[in-house]
Amino acid sequence: MKTIGLIGGMSWASTIEYYRILNQTAHARLGGLHSAKILLYSVDFAEIEPAMREDRWADAARILVDAARRLEAGGADLLLLCTNTLHKVAGEIERSTRLPFLHIADACGDAIVARKLKKVGLLGTRFTMEQDFISSRLERFNLEVLVPDAVQRASANRIIFEELVHGKILPESKAEYLEMIRGLIGRGAEGIILGCTEIGLLIQQADVAVPVFDTTQIHALAAMEMAVAEEEKVQAAKTG
Ligand code: GLU
Repeated sequence: MKTIGLIGGMSWASTIEYYRILNQTAHARLGGLHSAKILLYSVDFAEIEPAMREDRWADAARILVDAARRLEAGGADLLLLCTNTLHKVAGEIERSTRLPFLHIADACGDAIVARKLKKVGLLGTRFTMEQDFISSRLERFNLEVLVPDAVQRASANRIIFEELVHGKILPESKAEYLEMIRGLIGRGAEGIILGCTEIGLLIQQADVAVPVFDTTQIHALAAMEMAVAEEEKVQAAKTG
């Protein structure tokens, strides 16, 4: 099995989910006592968040490139950046190591195409919804991407940074997200992307009438696919 390198801590509340999903999937796929081989570099989010807010993306990139190089030196075989928003600097990270970098929007695009959908709603931080570093990547999959209006985008962003990154799950915030989702479906969205790695803590598939694409889940499953492909071939050969 390959060793998955995680650049996490953005926030820790969602990095826990990556850890859980990767291990549960390794066990589900390989059985027995199998668990995931993981190297985690968890940053101090207080060093990253102001750089995002103050538009100092090069400063955020420097910290993440350093993390990627440490993971490479430590023996990781592939890299995941456990946040949608910091994919704004994915190019810098990709160029800084020789490791395969699994882009969160590519994993998500593949999952949406597999369901044969064309028009999707995107929820996330204001950076993710208002800039094009995720949506333009999704458009490469021939997808049309809708986002909520400005008032709702501000509210979605506030809930992420004031509540979800602290692991705080409030019913009134869930109701606000569901209202945004209803609006997107009303405008023709055939699926909803939870394009922030904490939103899955608040919204689940059972809450929504159309398919939900939880980027944390999808990203972790795609990584495990890469990590165990060879292992499964070996097991299949053994069992004949
Ligand atoms: N984890 C979030 C995301 O997926 C937001 C927090 C952050 O900016 O890292 O975009």
